[in-house]
Formats: sequence, structure tokens, C-alpha cells
Amino acid sequence: SEQQQDASGRCAPLVVLAGPTAVGKGTVSAYIREHYPEVWLSVSMTTRHPRPGEIDGKHYHFVTQPKFDELVRQGEFLEHAVVHGRASYGTPRGPVLAAAQEGRLPLLEIDLQGARQVRERMPDAYFVFLAPPSWDELVRRLVGRGTESEAERETRLATARRELAAKSEFDHTIVNDDVQRAAQELVHLMQQHVCVKR
Ligand code: 5GP
Repeated sequence: SEQQQDASGRCAPLVVLAGPTAVGKGTVSAYIREHYPEVWLSVSMTTRHPRPGEIDGKHYHFVTQPKFDELVRQGEFLEHAVVHGRASYGTPRGPVLAAAQEGRLPLLEIDLQGARQVRERMPDAYFVFLAPPSWDELVRRLVGRGTESEAERETRLATARRELAAKSEFDHTIVNDDVQRAAQELVHLMQQHVCVKR
């Protein structure tokens, strides 16, 4: 079967969506999960506890730290990282590679450390940076969420400031001014750049 190529002759096996903390990556990927069944959204493993409403196997695979560490040793992750110094997160390698093989539209929504690891291992992947409309808006979202303590918020702000500077490492930036619009732009990019079997 032939592989579709984009205008630059490149054919990406998958798309990585990353960006600063609280920029709304989770909201955009949740919107895509509900509205774009043609997108194959990777389900990450994490050692953090489920939040109310989160379903094991749908939003995350929730695992213990020993189990996570065992999977790391076995090389089961495409990338993995400790996020906000609190919990481990990782992308199971097998399902992602299978989805890419099948010519699906695989999407990874991960943090910046993870995105850098994927770039090392899959330089052909297409990297999308989700940016806040402004720094003030990012701070407002971070504080407005209200699920974190003061100390945690400070940690997240410091991380976000660093992460905003990473924009230049990405193939494309989407401004998250509106979830529906940002999701639409992302899916359009995926259709342009991901290898599709036909
Ligand atoms: P939350 O705990 O709020 O769901 O996610 C916290 C952060 O972890 C978000 O920035 C999210 O993008 C990131 N994250 C989720 N899954 C993964 C993963 O598999 N790998 C990496 N590196 N980061 C992830």
C-alpha cells in the first residue's frame, strides 16, 4: 500500500501534541476523543490516582509505581516522564506502533519531556505545540482550575514559563483560543501530515 506524503515529501507516523501545563491539552484531546473517531488517541499509563469521572483504560491506564517501573525495565514505553515531580506517565509503545502500522491517525498528548524523547526515537513524527492566547490567560487558567495547592501552583507556573520557550522546537503551533476550533485545526493538520494507507 502506498503512503501519503505531505507537501514537503514527509510522511509522519504520528502526531505529538504538547505544550505548557494548563494550556488545555487535556481538554482538546478530550474533545477529539468525543468528536473525531478517526483519530486514534493513545491511552497513557500513569501512577497518579484517578480523578472523579476518569475511567481506567479510557482516560489512562492507572498502575502502581512498581508495575510502572517494571514496564520501563521491559522497554514497553515509547517515552515516559515524571510530570510536576509527582507521578510517572508513559506512552505504551506497542499500541502506538500498531496504530501507525495500520495507517490510523495516532495522536499522543504528552508533556514536553516526553515530546523530546519521541523526537529522538521517531524524528519523522509531527510535533504540535499548543499555546495559550497569552501568558496572563495561562496564569488565569492555572489559578482558575483551583485543584492544586499554592505550592503546586508555583511549581506548575515555573514549569509553564520554561515550557513556553520550547515553542520553537515544534513543527507547528496551535493557539488554544477555542477548544472546538483548536481541535479542528489539529485534526486538519493530522490529515495533512500523517501517513495514510490507501
Ligand atoms: P494530568 O495528570 O493532569 O492528566 O496530566 C498531567 C500532565 O501529564 C499533562 O501535561 C499531560 O500532557 C501529561 N501526560 C499525560 N500522559 C502522558 C504520557 O504518557 N507521557 C508524558 N510524558 N506526559 C503525559
